[in-house]
Amino acid sequence: MALGAGTFAAGRQTAADQQAPQGAPGANAARPLQDTVLPLERYEPKSMLHVPETQVPRSRFPVIDFHTHITFATGGANPGGVRFSMDPATCLAVMDRKNIRTMVDVTGGYGAGLHDAIAKLPAAHPGRFIVFTEPAWAKASDDGYSKAQADLIEDAHKAGAKGLKVLKTLGLFLRERGSQNLVRIDDPRFDLMWEAVGSLKMPVAIHVSDPEAFFLPIDRFNERYEELHAHPDWSFHGKDYPSNRELQEARRNVMRRHPKTQFVCLHVADAEDLPYVSECLDSHPNMFVDIAARIGELGRQPRTARKFFDKYQDRIVFGTDASASASTPQQTFGDALYEIYYRFLETEDEYFDYAPAPVPPQGRWRIYGLGLSDPVLRKVYGENAARLIGLSA
Ligand SMILES: [Zn+2]
Repeated sequence: MALGAGTFAAGRQTAADQQAPQGAPGANAARPLQDTVLPLERYEPKSMLHVPETQVPRSRFPVIDFHTHITFATGGANPGGVRFSMDPATCLAVMDRKNIRTMVDVTGGYGAGLHDAIAKLPAAHPGRFIVFTEPAWAKASDDGYSKAQADLIEDAHKAGAKGLKVLKTLGLFLRERGSQNLVRIDDPRFDLMWEAVGSLKMPVAIHVSDPEAFFLPIDRFNERYEELHAHPDWSFHGKDYPSNRELQEARRNVMRRHPKTQFVCLHVADAEDLPYVSECLDSHPNMFVDIAARIGELGRQPRTARKFFDKYQDRIVFGTDASASASTPQQTFGDALYEIYYRFLETEDEYFDYAPAPVPPQGRWRIYGLGLSDPVLRKVYGENAARLIGLSA
């Protein structure tokens, strides 16, 4: 850890050590750590608990992974274009092993890129893949954007897109051409777009904001210190960023103004604060959540999370945020990722890793399984997503 702030003194001498004669049994064994500093990133404590470890190689019911990134926008000179981060054949092999019926590729771009993604995914493998479109952010400051964006949604729907993905570009990165002010999530220029997707029954997969710790200083009190240290560009502390709650409230304004449009708030709409998420779900019947990349949050509050799943069982969808990227092990597509999600949802195993990584990548804690009932599992694994996307159950 380059800053050196992520270290702590280990093996501080005790009074008993100081009194132990040199060469006494055990004295050498304790010696290597004395007077040294163990860098935090090299600390990989192994749990000594003796608790059941259940293997769950296949989900109990067929899965729709509502949140994956098989393609990514290329941006730049080719707006709307996409590149494939994973090839469909690799996806299908994992899907067949893991009982995944369908993967939703949310970042399908628009225009020619979208057509390409649809041709190689759902058109080539009907039923196994779904592709969502994305807004043309680069045009957001153009005259006539509102209407042009609504038209793009119509085109995407005709091409076969089943939903709209909104990255946190909106709220945290998209700036007004000229003034460079951040464009608000509830800016009225997007109203026609929200209405268009609503009338076409295309759900919106929307990500705004991020973990609360990303809005706080990267210091010794930050529970995601190591994660932010590895990805400092993920921090939204300081500068002109809105607060976490301002972003969430702006998203709420959008859901309130467009009650016929269905919004799937990704990452449990920020799972540290389940009371707030519950309040939002209670006041907005058009709101849903996915669980992607947040089993680390849900699983460290298993009693509250279990109640949350039981209460909102019709409005939670399975998602992983999977891509080929190895730098975020909690999202790296593959068998190991799905086995952890299944273990979390299906078993009552205790204190296990939420990601296939030597050190928990989002924060140094472990999780507890929820042991959901079969009816709830069926809905969360696939039925809720099938209803949203318009697939037969
Ligand atoms: Zn994602």
